[in-house]
Amino acid sequence: MIYQGKARVPVREAVLHCAAIKTGQFKHMRPFQVFATINQWHTERGFKNGFGYHGLFMPDGQFYEGRPFEMIGAHVLGHNVGTLGFLLIESREITRMGVFDDYFTARQALALQARLRTMPGLQKVSGHNDYAPKLCPGFKVRSEDWL
Ligand SMILES: [Zn+2]
Repeated sequence: MIYQGKARVPVREAVLHCAAIKTGQFKHMRPFQVFATINQWHTERGFKNGFGYHGLFMPDGQFYEGRPFEMIGAHVLGHNVGTLGFLLIESREITRMGVFDDYFTARQALALQARLRTMPGLQKVSGHNDYAPKLCPGFKVRSEDWL
């Protein structure tokens, strides 16, 4: 089990996100550059610890670490404590609710599944759109697809 923050709240859920970028916006960028760009966005939005997610998945399946899992994230209003936030970098702009394959790659799916399935105590995988009237991450997230 992973525990977060000073209160050591158990982490039982992961919340998936997309980057809300234009098609090609991050093309040819390396994971560090994507991280640095989003870190700047989050810093500009006033997140005191910058990059609000616990990691990001590139279209080629590469994972890049964000906040330590034991640190509370800044990714889903009202549900940051006891959850991990993972960012999926979409291959094209998300303009409507679709399915995973509309925006993301099979390599991303495998990398994400591999990571989530090995996390001790994780019981649920949700999408940002389960908690806010947003498209993010662009598809309906079901725990059974990922755990
Ligand atoms: Zn989101």
